[in-house]
Amino acid sequence: MRTREQSAAYMREYRKKHPGASSRLTTRWAKANRESDRKYKKKWQDAHPESMRSRALKHKYGITLEEYNALLLKQNGVCAVCKTPPLKGKVLNVDHDHRCCVGRNGKCCGKCIRGLIHQTCNLMLGGAKDSPTILRLGAEYLELFRTEE
Ligand SMILES: [Zn+2]
Ligand SMILES: [Zn+2]
Ligand SMILES: [Zn+2]
Repeated sequence: MRTREQSAAYMREYRKKHPGASSRLTTRWAKANRESDRKYKKKWQDAHPESMRSRALKHKYGITLEEYNALLLKQNGVCAVCKTPPLKGKVLNVDHDHRCCVGRNGKCCGKCIRGLIHQTCNLMLGGAKDSPTILRLGAEYLELFRTEE
């Protein structure tokens, strides 16, 4: 396999010998290089899932993986809404006050994080427009039909 420098040198030679030769070939080279770049990146990401999560957390919520884990510990490892553990193979979502971070392109300011919760619990809050009143009314409604548990 050729290294990138060798490839570049080869292309330079090729172009010298074939002036005006296909820029299509060059494009193909660049494309092949991009492909392998992407594959390399993907491989690295697959090999370092923790590091990827850490970067995603930092990027989206402005917190480190350590801060996430500290928060999880404070919640005794369970969802802050329903108090049950994360689903198998899943992690709890970071819940923040969406109203605070409107217009930040999905990025959180990092100061309005409320807790770590299930995706389903997150959807429930969102569905109720984050309104405690609606959620209470919803609970009352369900109580009407409750038989036994
Ligand atoms: Zn939950
Ligand atoms: Zn936020
Ligand atoms: Zn915010």
